[in-house]
Amino acid sequence: MNHYKLLTPGPLTTTSSVKEEMLLDRCTWDNDYKIITQKIRAKLLELAGANHEEYTTVLMQGSGTFAVEAVMNSTISKKDKVLIITNGAYGERIVKVAKYIGLAFMEYSVSYNKYPNEEEIRSILKEEQNITHIVMVHCETTTGILNPIEMISKLSKEFEKSLIIDAMSSFGGMEINVPELGIDYLISSANKCIQGVPGFAFVIARLEKLITCEGNSSSLSFDLYDQWKEMEQDGKWRFTSPTHVVAAFSKALDELDEEGGIPARFSRYQSNNRILRERLKKIGFQAYLSDEKQSPIITTFLFPDDCFNFEHFYTFVKKRGYVLYPGKLTNENTFRIGNIGEIYEADIEELCNIIESYMGVVKK
Ligand SMILES: *Cc1c(COP(=O)(O)O)cnc(C)c1O
Repeated sequence: MNHYKLLTPGPLTTTSSVKEEMLLDRCTWDNDYKIITQKIRAKLLELAGANHEEYTTVLMQGSGTFAVEAVMNSTISKKDKVLIITNGAYGERIVKVAKYIGLAFMEYSVSYNKYPNEEEIRSILKEEQNITHIVMVHCETTTGILNPIEMISKLSKEFEKSLIIDAMSSFGGMEINVPELGIDYLISSANKCIQGVPGFAFVIARLEKLITCEGNSSSLSFDLYDQWKEMEQDGKWRFTSPTHVVAAFSKALDELDEEGGIPARFSRYQSNNRILRERLKKIGFQAYLSDEKQSPIITTFLFPDDCFNFEHFYTFVKKRGYVLYPGKLTNENTFRIGNIGEIYEADIEELCNIIESYMGVVKK
């Protein structure tokens, strides 16, 4: 049935058993369904290393950006000011969200292949004492850079700021201990490392902070507080929820456990990524990022030469069973390969063989 595998970081390749969960129709207010929602909320807390006395999980209809917008809209009041750290398109999208909402914000941006600088952020926090919140993307899917979450955690603790982390493309694929890192709101979605299908996103929220957010949101649909209040009663969503997607996600969580939890998934992703980079290097593709900044999620490669035609390459690879991802850099010609989802070493080896044969063919 599946004529090609997705090497894109969400939607990604899912198992047949996850997809099969969507063959049943479920009722949003029925107990059977509410139990699924509650199980998901509890399981996500567990994956975050959090307990329900300190943290809660709020599920939100829509794609990942909807949850980012819900957090920005509901947890940052008109009296607050947020520091947005950016080194890629997803960070820049958060800036856009802040502008739409009309939040007071400051953007600290560095180039896409650089880490944000601790001393520079420290001096911003010293100067701009009215900053109340800090937002950063963990794995910037634009390039695949893994941003230093420990550094930002340390600063937000030191300066007592609320910390919001967009861990969309890393949560579930890498260990992130939310309480230890002092994260107040962690955002991720169904169709990334948990390996569900697209349709909702989730926020792991520190209760002590969330309970102060009543009335902040200027939007009913995006009101994270209101969504939490309703869901907290017995697992019923406000408004229609993506029932099929939720059921599939519940299955995906079971399969994460069966695989051996986050450590096992991390090591699969890491070895996929290592093989991919080693082999493509031999074939003549240079990675955009240096090894130490590279996440085990997605890799950006530079075009090997000026004659390289991505469309042609993409079609060649797609015909042979794999879908790649175009680049998202404005100043350099790149493409991306994601290695998350139901993807194993054998897939990566096969992909590299295809790419190798493509390079042989075009060279002639
Ligand atoms: C996928 C992703 C998002 C959300 O994108 P949507 O298209 O709205 O699901 C946000 N941030 C990062 C880092 C992502 O990888």
